[in-house]
Amino acid sequence: MTVQPAGTPSSMPTPAKSPRAATAMRTDYCGELGVDDIGRTVELCGWVHARREHGEHLAFIDLRDRTGIVQCVVDGAHDLRSEYVVRVTGAVRSRPEGTENPNLATGAIEIGDCTVEILNPAEPPPFPLDGRRDVDETLRLRFRYLDLRSERLQRNLRARAAVNSAIRGAMEAQGFVEIETPMLIASTPEGARDFVVPSRLSPGEFYALPQSPQLFKQLCMVGGVDRYYQIARCLRDEDLRADRQFEFTQLDAEMSFASQADVISVISEAVASAVEAVTGVRPESFPHLTWREAMERFGSDKPDTRFGMELVELTDVFAETGFNAFKAPCVKGIRVPGGADKTRNQLDGLTEQAKRFGAKGLVWMKVEPDRTLNSPVAKFLRDDERDALVERFGATAGDLLLLVADERPKVWHVLGLLRLELGRPPVNEGGLVFVWVIEFPLFEALDEAGRPVPAHHPFTMPHEDDLFLLDAYLRGELDGPALLDIRSQAYDLTLNGWELGSGSVRIHRDDIQRKIFAALGISDEEAERKFGFLLRAFRFGAPPHAGFAFGIDRLAALLVGEENIREVIAFPKTQSGTDPLTGAPTPIDAHHLEELGLRLLPKKQ
Ligand code: ASP
Repeated sequence: MTVQPAGTPSSMPTPAKSPRAATAMRTDYCGELGVDDIGRTVELCGWVHARREHGEHLAFIDLRDRTGIVQCVVDGAHDLRSEYVVRVTGAVRSRPEGTENPNLATGAIEIGDCTVEILNPAEPPPFPLDGRRDVDETLRLRFRYLDLRSERLQRNLRARAAVNSAIRGAMEAQGFVEIETPMLIASTPEGARDFVVPSRLSPGEFYALPQSPQLFKQLCMVGGVDRYYQIARCLRDEDLRADRQFEFTQLDAEMSFASQADVISVISEAVASAVEAVTGVRPESFPHLTWREAMERFGSDKPDTRFGMELVELTDVFAETGFNAFKAPCVKGIRVPGGADKTRNQLDGLTEQAKRFGAKGLVWMKVEPDRTLNSPVAKFLRDDERDALVERFGATAGDLLLLVADERPKVWHVLGLLRLELGRPPVNEGGLVFVWVIEFPLFEALDEAGRPVPAHHPFTMPHEDDLFLLDAYLRGELDGPALLDIRSQAYDLTLNGWELGSGSVRIHRDDIQRKIFAALGISDEEAERKFGFLLRAFRFGAPPHAGFAFGIDRLAALLVGEENIREVIAFPKTQSGTDPLTGAPTPIDAHHLEELGLRLLPKKQ
């Protein structure tokens, strides 16, 4: 339907400027037109972004496609509403003097003498499509296809595509081969809950969806692939957070005859290429910190090093203290510059917060102009302790000092969180700061039964220098807690305080793998049942190998300055794991259940 025959274009459309844009229906993209095009007759297709009427006979239409917006001047068009799909033919001309719009990329020009063809009318959208952030999340997700039309999401999706493409280029340039691993598998040992798929042909049996391609990529190494990569979909049934969805995408890689340094170099190159593709600038460096140093200085294994407020060691200062609260295995603190102006209420709030993080309490001290300490506990400290404190912190007038005394891991945890709370810049400020965290512990904790829990996964190679501890434990000469001192050859890459990904040198030797299983309390039969296929493969000449995986959703989000990975995922789930667009998850028919050999229990109240 052509609504507007008035103003027939003065000439036939001129050939398309960019072959990428040209189709049978159009010559150009809206957002790519500029003063160079003045005089050309163009055919454009898109959505009516906005419409302003000037009297009865003149209307301005902002026409939008994925590249942006261009203003079209239409004589007497009244029948056009927001989000109508139209095809506009007209001539590019400069805007009359004084009406240019510097905020619009195409603001120097407009399309005049337009003919408008309505390709499809549209219902009014349920929210404005300008990428604003105050629209209800569920509504946005229910109409995600409309949300995707916004400039913000268009930009994000393209940035993400640029990340993928750069990663592929970098991995291939480094000799990696892309291999697709299966989606219907037996469980992977990443430590999260599996999503399971019932098997119709083997009733009562289930596939797991991959938490990662971990075992398959290791099998690829046994298979002589040497350098594997995949942009892999992974599924983990965990609670959703800003940086976590059920399904996510990671660059997954594995290489043979390689060390930690080799993997770090390859992955840094892929990440640098992705950063450059989106921001135009290559990150200058990828510094390393040991896990221990990250915990001691930042109280976190994903240290946000964009700001200071590092944890200061005070245990030795209070080694002989008479103040009971500081008679603890570890005392550390942070200095909040200018924090002394906090009110009593705010300080009580911080104390409550510290308790929620697990502390027994929080000691605060305000540094007075004469560098004396104003604190409810100051009177319990000796002069030399107070002086040493001020010295150790490098404290100056107006600072607030916050101290925690407890077991060392507790102190790290509490101060690490308080530090973020009080100092962390917004995600899009302070640049992109990468840190490789190396020498992670092999085990992160002991469970209720006193068994160690792997920090990475059970195929991670222990640090060579600490293998003797494992042997001593297995001989019964050491008890459980000693295992927590064993370092591993596992490493993480972090960016601005987010964990981007993890990897490790793998165990390729049967004897070491058996020791780890023994320490984990996994019997030979259980190991055989769960991972028999891998262990068998390893007996056929497994090369030494190492690998890594990092989250593409997280990297893409940080590169475009988004706090939530949902904003770089085309069709994400809500915080409660549902999809308001399709209604998933949904019940299935009784006959389908029957076919799968399943019967449902009554719903829990
Ligand atoms: N499979 C691990 C993960 O998904 C990464 C690795 O070790 O390569 O976290």
